[in-house]
Amino acid sequence: MRTDLCGNLRSSDIGREVVLCGWVDRRREHSEHLAFVDLRDRTGVMQCVVDGGRDLRSEYVVRISGTVQERHGGKSNENLATGEVELQDCTVEVLSVAEPPPFPLDERTDVDENIRLRYRYVDLRKPRLQHNLRVRAKVNSAIRIAMEEQDFVEIETPMLIASTPEGARDFVVPSRMKPGSFYALPQSPQIFKQLCMVGGIDRYYQIARCLRDEDLRADRQFEFMQLDAEASFVTQDDVYQFINHAVRGATEAVTGVRPGEIPSMTWHEAMERFGSDKPDTRFGMELTELTELFSATEFNAFKADCIKGIKVDGGAEYSRNQLDGLTDDVKSWGGKGLVWMKVEPDRSLNSPVAKFCSDAELQGLVDTLDAQPGDLLLIVADRRRTVQNLLGRLRIQIGRPPVTEGGLHFLWVTDFPLFELNEAGTPVPAHHPFTMPHEDDIALLETASGEGFLDIRSQAYDLVLNGWELGSGSVRIHRSDVQQQVLGLLGIGDEEAQAKFGFLLDAFKYGAPPHAGFAIGIDRLAALLAGEENIREVIAYPKTQTGADPMTQAPTPIDDGHLQELGLRVVPQD
Ligand code: ASP
Repeated sequence: MRTDLCGNLRSSDIGREVVLCGWVDRRREHSEHLAFVDLRDRTGVMQCVVDGGRDLRSEYVVRISGTVQERHGGKSNENLATGEVELQDCTVEVLSVAEPPPFPLDERTDVDENIRLRYRYVDLRKPRLQHNLRVRAKVNSAIRIAMEEQDFVEIETPMLIASTPEGARDFVVPSRMKPGSFYALPQSPQIFKQLCMVGGIDRYYQIARCLRDEDLRADRQFEFMQLDAEASFVTQDDVYQFINHAVRGATEAVTGVRPGEIPSMTWHEAMERFGSDKPDTRFGMELTELTELFSATEFNAFKADCIKGIKVDGGAEYSRNQLDGLTDDVKSWGGKGLVWMKVEPDRSLNSPVAKFCSDAELQGLVDTLDAQPGDLLLIVADRRRTVQNLLGRLRIQIGRPPVTEGGLHFLWVTDFPLFELNEAGTPVPAHHPFTMPHEDDIALLETASGEGFLDIRSQAYDLVLNGWELGSGSVRIHRSDVQQQVLGLLGIGDEEAQAKFGFLLDAFKYGAPPHAGFAIGIDRLAALLAGEENIREVIAYPKTQTGADPMTQAPTPIDDGHLQELGLRVVPQD
């Protein structure tokens, strides 16, 4: 139907007769008889000079033939790739009329997300989404190439499964053949990929859809895609190499620049220096240890397990209101409070609590934090984990640059703890229950109790990009005795273990190779490479924050007949 694409025409095409198809982006009167019609397709916009054209409205679908010429009066538009040329002597054929679009398609207008998603097919016409979805496609294709270069085999695992313990809530699907029973949708292909290893596949990968019924956020949807990989007879370092190859390939495919070596840091160091297990290393403002300095302090608020501080360059300008706001934030995150000190021109410290500190302590603060006139010091005293978390959050809130600034900082975070403690103080897996404990800490499995569980390290690792957790993985337990021991510590008795993943434990009895793997969130990687803060901008049909799809109206009730067939009855909720 067309000879060319709108965005590709240049002065070198002058004189050519072309046929273009697309949507009317804009129509402006040029003179009594002539109108400028900007025609848009996936490649860009071409200005067409149309005779009359009064019947052409925004978003009409048209086919225009004409001759490429230099723009009238040499008036080129430098902001447009096709800005030097236009189409003249045009013939226009209307292929589809269109109602006025529900919102303007320019990037400047802020449109409510519900409306955007209700009319996603119109929203998708925006250059930004056209670009983002192509970025995403490049990421997928580069990942496939990189994994295949490394001899990984793409294997599809089922969607209707028994539960996979990734720590989230399952989406479930009722069974018609076995009323009262349910399939779970996979939170990840975790167990199946491990079974592939028992099955001798050796190197598996999949760009897999995963579903987790968790609250939605800027970096989280109910369903997401991940590069899921597993390999046998490999070490942790081998996994880093595989994944490095894939993410470097994907980054190069999008940006044209191949990232260098990806550095690594232990979880312990990340928490101490950045107060986060996913440190954004694009900026400093690191947490500075002050516990020793205040070991004999008279100041009650500083009599604590741990004291750390951060320095905000130039932060002495913060108003009292802003400082109160930061203190409120810290309290709302579970902290007791926040001490702030402004650094005066003579490097003395100005703070409502300075009078409670000794001169040596104040001087020590200035020296340890290298405080310069005009800086602001923010100090938290509490239990170590709490101090790390609170200052880590403050650091991000105050210092995090926009996603498009500061380049791409990949980082491996290694040696994650094996367990976290839930509210009842019992251990729960920090990653998932198939993660191998750190070799040096296996003996602790026998002896640990209470908070001691937190000291057991694992062979689990995360890949972080600009403060986002891009993915996680681990060396797996391949011995059923160690697996049973870990499940026991998690309070999963033999019977429950057998019921939940007896098939995995059984499989391990038939010769399981040592294996390890990883998964990378494609949505997050694509968003960061596209320069987007919200993964919904790189997903064609995302859900809103409340998990709804305003376009299809999902989720919707089903009719009684269908419910009956499934053996279900809906209990009205208050
Ligand atoms: N299954 C894990 C996840 O989805 C990744 C892995 O351990 O390979 O987070």
